[in-house]
Amino acid sequence: MNADLTGASRRGAVQTVVGLVPASRLGVTLPHEHLLCDLTPFLRRPQSEDERAFADAPITIDIIGRLRYHPYSNRANLSLTDEAVAIEEALRYKRAGGSAIVDATSGGIGRNPAGLARIAQATGLHVVMGSGYYVSSVHPAQFTQSGPERIAEEIAQEIIGGAGATDIRPGIIGEIGLSWPPHPDEYVVLRAAAGAQRLTGAPLVVHPGRHPDAPRDAMRIVESAGGDPTHTIMCHLCRTIHSWEPLAELARTGCFLEYDLFGQETSYYQSNPALDMVSDAQRMQWVQRLVDAGYRDRILLSDDVANKYQLVRYGGHGYEHILVNIVPRLRQRGFSEDDVHAFLVDNPAGALAFR
Ligand SMILES: [Zn+2]
Repeated sequence: MNADLTGASRRGAVQTVVGLVPASRLGVTLPHEHLLCDLTPFLRRPQSEDERAFADAPITIDIIGRLRYHPYSNRANLSLTDEAVAIEEALRYKRAGGSAIVDATSGGIGRNPAGLARIAQATGLHVVMGSGYYVSSVHPAQFTQSGPERIAEEIAQEIIGGAGATDIRPGIIGEIGLSWPPHPDEYVVLRAAAGAQRLTGAPLVVHPGRHPDAPRDAMRIVESAGGDPTHTIMCHLCRTIHSWEPLAELARTGCFLEYDLFGQETSYYQSNPALDMVSDAQRMQWVQRLVDAGYRDRILLSDDVANKYQLVRYGGHGYEHILVNIVPRLRQRGFSEDDVHAFLVDNPAGALAFR
């Protein structure tokens, strides 16, 4: 990699699908969403006639309740591939005051650079695209055999020159998917992602396995591979850590702490029934605890919309949920305007700016 390609011009800017934006002009930002993605590889295999019928059912109001309990049992629910719907839903967020949105879709779950660029143009939103790879079950065949250096260079090339034959560039490395326990290939990709961060100065976004030890374990890999812990976003904490000690230990690494499942309040969590999904009220309690401990400037909030049932059109809260429903509740709970501004504007800008 040539030294002059390592991103001096990107420093302090956020890289959107249509170009660079100074981080100070990013505005209200959702740091972890999916505008276009395809999770159908994770569809649960139906075990009965009834489940087969549900798997193939179109989304209508009479299946919404069942969908909230069993989102991975319906094929249609798992694909966000309609750009017109994405535009309509993203515009609702914009009308509520939104300015920027990160599409954290990475390799294996339907990343669509040209589609994201069209959505950015149609909405006028700052749209940031992902890179790298999701969990091992959707990795390309045997690609980790080339080793982390080669994969790091490929990710860096995209950030510098564009994805595939396009000039559409990712603005984050991630979401990098990890299972629990992690698959060895996932460690290879995480090391590669940290290497790509060293080459480009891009932010690193990590989807940890579903276990309280998983985020800290991932940070050890990031640190040992030369990544920047203070420029790493640890996602999905609300479904991963449920006691203070592991959270405090993670916070001490300096990473960004993302509560990004706002709006998901069905306590039954199909992806891991052993754990009870928390409510938005409990998410805000964890945010309060982190603020009290001095971590206000590390906190990120998002909705991780990735299923149809989360969209307004299909009975969900949509991308506008945090602005419409959560911000008023944060104020009611005594969070200051400075706190809210930090969560929605300053912290995402700091996390997403290239270094
Ligand atoms: Zn994720």
